[in-house]
Amino acid sequence: MKADIEKTRAYYSSLGPESICNCDYCQNYCARVKTAYPEVAFYLASLGVNIGKPFETMPLEPDENGYLEYCVCQYVVFGSCPEDFTH
Ligand SMILES: [Zn+2]
Repeated sequence: MKADIEKTRAYYSSLGPESICNCDYCQNYCARVKTAYPEVAFYLASLGVNIGKPFETMPLEPDENGYLEYCVCQYVVFGSCPEDFTH
């Protein structure tokens, strides 16, 4: 994978608060994910990604213990890779 880090950083810098879903679950994710998962945040930052600005999250309802699971969290990275690339 060949990430275009500068282009990716510019993309995230251009995203304002209106780009994030305003439901409580998404707002919770964006407010807490960087502190909850610092190593993931560090890795994504190395690709130019701001972990607090996901392209999409898919929160489930809180479970019986009050925990909230996000089954999918997607981020945009500009660049190129072979068609059969997986990571
Ligand atoms: Zn939402």
